[in-house]
Amino acid sequence: MMNQRVGKVYLVGSGPGAPDLITVRGLRALQAADVVVYDRLAPPELLDEAPPHALRFYVGKAPGRHVCSQEEINALLIEQARLGRTVVRLKGGDPFVFGRGGEEMVALAEAGIPFEVVPGITSAVAAPAAAAIPVTHREVAPAFAVVTGHEAPDKCGGLVEWAAYARVPTLVVLMGVRNSAQIAECLIAAGRSPDEPVAIIANATLPDQQVAFATLGTLAQTIAANGIRPPATIVIGEVVAIGSQVQALALATLANAVARAS
Ligand code: SAH
Repeated sequence: MMNQRVGKVYLVGSGPGAPDLITVRGLRALQAADVVVYDRLAPPELLDEAPPHALRFYVGKAPGRHVCSQEEINALLIEQARLGRTVVRLKGGDPFVFGRGGEEMVALAEAGIPFEVVPGITSAVAAPAAAAIPVTHREVAPAFAVVTGHEAPDKCGGLVEWAAYARVPTLVVLMGVRNSAQIAECLIAAGRSPDEPVAIIANATLPDQQVAFATLGTLAQTIAANGIRPPATIVIGEVVAIGSQVQALALATLANAVARAS
């Protein structure tokens, strides 16, 4: 092959869901893309931002569809860049927060492909924000942690040391819907109060956003009772009470306005 120009790969975070929560830099990369490689959680509206000629590759999971392995995705990014194309790898939230962006970056670096990481707003902070929950708050929560709930906590051990996270003021759990009962159990066993306020935010920032408030002790039954399905973010900690109070105040203000108007 003659000295063909190698294209650049942009690892772009699309933000938590609403299409206008992508960064300006991410949008510009998308508008200049020859190829877009995207996942299930990337907002579909954003695909229209790529030029009409751009190739679009879906590599996410879907029932009854072929699931691309990480190796296949890496190979696709490398192959398309080697054809001299500008490639946007669009991922939900931030590419480096449970997005396997790190693995793709390493594969690109090893293949000598130029790349740029464009951070995105992660659902770990945007989903709580959508429910008026600040992940840190002076004198309430000086720290927060983001953990995956995907690691089935059989014995509360495994990759995630639930006992250690039980002491973090604000705990944000991604991918935790399915294992919510075991997660709550492990945290309570490690000393977290079953009365600790909890919020579950599904489809945050999207028109079908759903917010439910519970306690750690009632987390799993609240998820079941409200029919909450992924993608959902679970927030555990005293900051959750701020969110529920603010929402109650906002509702009261609205009710007063309606009363005054009638
Ligand atoms: N890279 C993504 C996270 C990918 S893991 C990010 O930074 O946001 C997928 C998990 O993210 C989901 O299981 C859910 O816990 C969370 N998530 C993604 N989008 C969400 C949304 N719109 N509302 C609530 N949680 C969301």
